[in-house]
Amino acid sequence: MSAVMSQDELQGIAEELHELLDTLHEELGEELKKIEHARHLLRQVPEGKTERQSALELARRLELEHLRQHLDTIAACNEALERINRGHYGRCVECGEAIELNLLRADPLISTCMACQG
Ligand SMILES: [Zn+2]
Repeated sequence: MSAVMSQDELQGIAEELHELLDTLHEELGEELKKIEHARHLLRQVPEGKTERQSALELARRLELEHLRQHLDTIAACNEALERINRGHYGRCVECGEAIELNLLRADPLISTCMACQG
């Protein structure tokens, strides 16, 4: 039925995912620093300076949102590596069918087939 990814290609994807994780972890450190910085500044805002305070709170909220997305990507990356290790990478986690290879090549983090993505 469906084409299977070659061992070489799988290996290539695993390497790509490891590199992506390295980058993500570095960026994560930067984001945490920014959040900490905003928190630090917020503590120093004098009473009554509400405009400054809300600007800082907004900045911090945006950073936190960014951080959350970042953590989601790291989780997806780790899950993909786990699927590779267990030998079911490329199978849809919903229905178990093979995921279309062009989808996987476009986004190696993808875990569901076209049909299950709706
Ligand atoms: Zn599916």
